[in-house]
Amino acid sequence: MSSHDSFFKSVERNFDKAASHTDLHKGLLEQIKVCNAIYSMRFPVKIGNEYQVIEAYRVQHSHHRLPTKGGIRYSDNVNQEEVMALAALMTYKCAIVDVPFGGAKGGVKINPKNYTENQLERITRRYTTELIRKNFIGPGIDVPAPDYGTGQREMAWILDTYQTFKHGELDAVACVTGKPVSQNGIKGRTEATGRGVFYGVREAMSFKDDMKKLGLTPGIEGKTMVVQGLGNVGSHTALISQQEGDVKIIGVAEYEGSIYSENGIDVEKLMAFRKETGSIIGFPGTKTLKDNMAALELECDILVPAALENQITMENAHKIKAKIVAEAANGPTTSEAADVLTKNGIMVIPDMYINAGGVTVSYFEWLKNLSHMRFGRMEKRFNSNTYDNLLKTIEKLTGKTVGDKERMVLTRGAEEIDLVRSGLEETMVTSYHQIRETFQRKRKIEDLRTAAFVTALQKISSDYENLGVFP
Ligand code: NAD
Repeated sequence: MSSHDSFFKSVERNFDKAASHTDLHKGLLEQIKVCNAIYSMRFPVKIGNEYQVIEAYRVQHSHHRLPTKGGIRYSDNVNQEEVMALAALMTYKCAIVDVPFGGAKGGVKINPKNYTENQLERITRRYTTELIRKNFIGPGIDVPAPDYGTGQREMAWILDTYQTFKHGELDAVACVTGKPVSQNGIKGRTEATGRGVFYGVREAMSFKDDMKKLGLTPGIEGKTMVVQGLGNVGSHTALISQQEGDVKIIGVAEYEGSIYSENGIDVEKLMAFRKETGSIIGFPGTKTLKDNMAALELECDILVPAALENQITMENAHKIKAKIVAEAANGPTTSEAADVLTKNGIMVIPDMYINAGGVTVSYFEWLKNLSHMRFGRMEKRFNSNTYDNLLKTIEKLTGKTVGDKERMVLTRGAEEIDLVRSGLEETMVTSYHQIRETFQRKRKIEDLRTAAFVTALQKISSDYENLGVFP
């Protein structure tokens, strides 16, 4: 069995474990579990003087809500099973954070580092064309987003290709999210997954009783963190945790190796150092560890695997010394390894909840695109004037006045970025409470992942009931 098979099997094993805690109809559980549509494609792209046949996929896991939604991954590890596992996770993720989409995922089996920008553009545009041809993309059909190995640039190419084919379609810009802000994207999307991880961990750590069981004081402030992967998700998790949560980042792992410093690592400076030297190794004030997996075994309060799946397995699970594992990546812990962590008293905050910030803000972007207007445009000035009038009334009644700087802070109307962040914070906090409530109510559930799954299954099953499919 390859590691990718085991990722898909892990998701199925987790599903089955959760299903046993529900009293849902067997047929309904089966319908929720299976992938509804799988598009496996091969297309040629001219690279240099040769034609290369590219292997790619788009999997729509669940059509119970449309559009389906999920990122596109560029990696030479991509295969159908992996994309299926990731698409299934998207369905449960969307349900947990109340994003009204079915789950999907795309994958292109390439290592982007081996291609020029121009070649990547041609591959992306050709992949999009294949999706259009089979009706696998569209604002009401299936809406991709960034994932491992892709970002704003790829999303802009996808949008441009889609618009070329669908000239005049009113909502065309909502066919993909994670776009550059200048091209109908939304402020705060790039940082969203990492920011969501921060909000989620902070919320989990706010419960005194739960932290006491881990031997921790409540609150994220001053706690230590180790991050694996300094890409989109890992870097924003680390930066925001450091800047807004006063968290000490004591270890970082990247492709080339891992580093440690008990005094804390300035992540912003580390990223600048890596950009300049091409590596995190040798960053002043840090020790180099044995290899890139060694950082996972460091003693710390919070371990954030933010690279790829199958990083914590039966081989290293017993060596993990963190108190909390926040699964920023999808599937970083195999199902069996997660059982070992739970047995060892480690709290695992599951991927399908903790990294849902990306899809949450993608949903905001999609809504913005459908409304054809940025958030805050209608109410910002009105709110600002209302606060100003209120302040003036207070000043008149008290005979005291506030300074210009304070007035600016007190009378500010919300901008798009403020609304995105508050919507994300509200989502992460509310969803955590729902999962924790399920965990506490169902005494036999042993871990937060099962509680998250059960929460998702309850929501999806009631969607099916509303559709009248499984009354
Ligand atoms: P990314 O490509 O921006 O970054 C991944 C980073 O991990 C890269 O810097 C890479 O060099 C590093 N890496 C790869 N193998 C490693 C290893 N063995 N040890 C240490 N570092 C390693 O990807 P991303 O978008 O940040 O995605 C990371 C994970 O988060 C994936 O599992 C993805 O599915 C998940 N995720 C991403 C988003 C999103 O919005 N981008 C949303 C939800 C979940």
